[in-house]
Amino acid sequence: MTFQTTIAHPVETSGIGLHTGVQSHVRLIPAPPNTGIVFRRTDLDNFPIEAQGHNVARVSYATSLMKQGVLLSTTEHLLAAVYSLGIDNVFIDIDAIEVPILDGSAEPFVEMLEQAGIRKLRRKRRHLKVVKPLEFTEVDAANPAQSRRVGIYPAEEFRIRCYVDYAHPLVGQQEIEMVVRPETFRHLLSRARTFCFERDVEPLRAMGLIRGGSLENAIVLTDDGVMNGPLRFADEFGRHKALDLIGDLALAGLPLLARVEAYKAGHALHTQLVSRLLADPTLWTITSEEPAEAPVPIHAAAPRLSPVPAADRATGFVETSS
Ligand SMILES: [Zn+2]
Repeated sequence: MTFQTTIAHPVETSGIGLHTGVQSHVRLIPAPPNTGIVFRRTDLDNFPIEAQGHNVARVSYATSLMKQGVLLSTTEHLLAAVYSLGIDNVFIDIDAIEVPILDGSAEPFVEMLEQAGIRKLRRKRRHLKVVKPLEFTEVDAANPAQSRRVGIYPAEEFRIRCYVDYAHPLVGQQEIEMVVRPETFRHLLSRARTFCFERDVEPLRAMGLIRGGSLENAIVLTDDGVMNGPLRFADEFGRHKALDLIGDLALAGLPLLARVEAYKAGHALHTQLVSRLLADPTLWTITSEEPAEAPVPIHAAAPRLSPVPAADRATGFVETSS
């Protein structure tokens, strides 16, 4: 039987927000069964904002939550870590508007959660099991090749497949396919960092969207290379997109038994997928059955990662994992 979990001990960290540049302090606190993941704005009388689809706010460069006009920005990396590590219940106290970006990856959050430890609760874990597929495409009429697509399908475990394609010599087409488990997330995705293109930096700065952005918390791609290498993985961009996808799927509010596909998608489409899924109860059921523990065939369990392009090997980018 699988039991719900929380963290064993409180843990905390602090840093600045990527988009607002605001300094914030985050403290994770154990929570009782059936709490879910709940942010609390300690600067606003502990106002609670549940990490659930109905609280998604305007999303562009990051996923933000909003409830009764109270905003919380850039939740996806912390949520990806909490969700992938199988933590069902936790209070996340934060004293400002944005979650710290730290190094731009989820690794510092994973380390913090490992330090906290995981405690089993005496209550069965519930899963959101998808029983009918849901998919949709955002067509780019001017350039159909740039259309984006997301879908969620029945499966006995939580799997993702994430595809990105950027016209850049270090990126190109990258595809990540894996079963999401604590160890796969930790080893394959958690270290992949946020990235942006140098040509977008000035416009974003002018719009006040990256007040906390620096070479310490985002990979900056120049026209033909990277400003602040080395990369942590040759396909760090695809891996980061997969990390973001998981962080957005956490807004389902329960562990998923489903396969999710994202093709050139981003936060807006990821969160729409969650909202549309939750809005149609004929697509899923809530179960406390065991997920399939039967041994998965090797080819199904093994992650598929983008092949390392020859050009990257030549420039000596380090593949530090897997
Ligand atoms: Zn991200």
